[in-house]
Amino acid sequence: MSLSHDGVSLTVTSLHRHDWRRDEVRALFMLPFTELMFRAAQVHRANFDPTEVQISTLLSIKTGGCPEDCAYCPQSAKFETGVKAEKLIDLESVLAEARAAKAGGASRFCMGAAWRSPKDRDLERVCAMVEGVKALGMETCATLGMLTDAQARQLKSCGLDYYNHNLDTSPEYYGDIITTRTYQDRLDTLEHVRAAGINVCCGGIVGMGENLEDRVGMVTTLATLPVHPESVPINMLVRVEGTPLAGVATLDPIDFVRTIAVARITMPMSMVRLSAGREDMSEETQALCFLAGANSIFYGPKLLTTPNPGRDRDLALLDKLGLRPMD
Ligand code: SF4
Repeated sequence: MSLSHDGVSLTVTSLHRHDWRRDEVRALFMLPFTELMFRAAQVHRANFDPTEVQISTLLSIKTGGCPEDCAYCPQSAKFETGVKAEKLIDLESVLAEARAAKAGGASRFCMGAAWRSPKDRDLERVCAMVEGVKALGMETCATLGMLTDAQARQLKSCGLDYYNHNLDTSPEYYGDIITTRTYQDRLDTLEHVRAAGINVCCGGIVGMGENLEDRVGMVTTLATLPVHPESVPINMLVRVEGTPLAGVATLDPIDFVRTIAVARITMPMSMVRLSAGREDMSEETQALCFLAGANSIFYGPKLLTTPNPGRDRDLALLDKLGLRPMD
């Protein structure tokens, strides 16, 4: 099926493409909102049950004190945000949280550590956590910073299902957000994770003062990776006092929804995750995100160090919308 609007002809398909051009992705962002939503919803239906939402829980296993300078992040040691540096938490605490998450309906348990990259002795402890969580019958995900080839293989051998490493924004805007590691460093880690046979979770953040072209660039980069990330988290910036982005202007929620929709169309088989920023998002905006093809959320009262809607509020919203947790 082909849609044409103002001379932009766009073929509706559920085919996997890795050759998206920037002008095509830009044309999607520029579609009238109703056209964009219609097309995203079509792609969503062709690949998923649109009434199902996958639920993940994220636990910070090592908080604060990070040497990196990501301008949005309250865990960077370079900013005064009131987040204290803590040590890696113990295995039993992780397993207790994972059991509670499972009882609350989560099927995937993500563990996040504020590191530039893990040290070998830390990685051994994370591997024990992965094995313990898997033994509970949950999928596992970790986000630990940059990984070498050997570290990625070690995580694979202990059974890690997903590794999260975001591109954050476009290649052009990236240098305004992070100076302590390059865009290529991020792509290298993604390559190591992929080569080790671990599923990739990779997305970005919008509302960081970027412009439309940066959102186009971010989605184009994700959609032209050799294999699309299995999970694509799209975050709305949570402005935290003390970070350089604390005073950045709010992004129009419609632009956020557009980003979700374009991610859905360009990466049809990926789980598009509505991630950070839901705490301040209206129910109507979240409903539009689900209509635009988001089919995964983070669940639980905290996302690492920033607030997230409570479990009851999320269940009530899913219920109101007639959506249900994916098995
Ligand atoms: S986003 Fe990650 S790498 Fe960047 S400062 Fe925060 S914890 Fe460190």
